[in-house]
Amino acid sequence: MAISQDLLDILACPKCKGDLRLTDGKDGLICDACRLLYPIKDNIPVMLVDEAIHLNKDLETDTLQDG
Ligand SMILES: [Zn+2]
Repeated sequence: MAISQDLLDILACPKCKGDLRLTDGKDGLICDACRLLYPIKDNIPVMLVDEAIHLNKDLETDTLQDG
């Protein structure tokens, strides 16, 4: 059973209490504000900051250039 929209509405980032969005692979929840990815293990979101994965900003801005 996948993470439902209802569950998504209930869940919030434990760090900033902000909204989360599902990853494309539906295997994690992302807080855009904190740039953290909370993994989903056995269909259970792991809502722990310590377990969260820091997203690399380079993933979205891979054209960073100095000067
Ligand atoms: Zn957050």
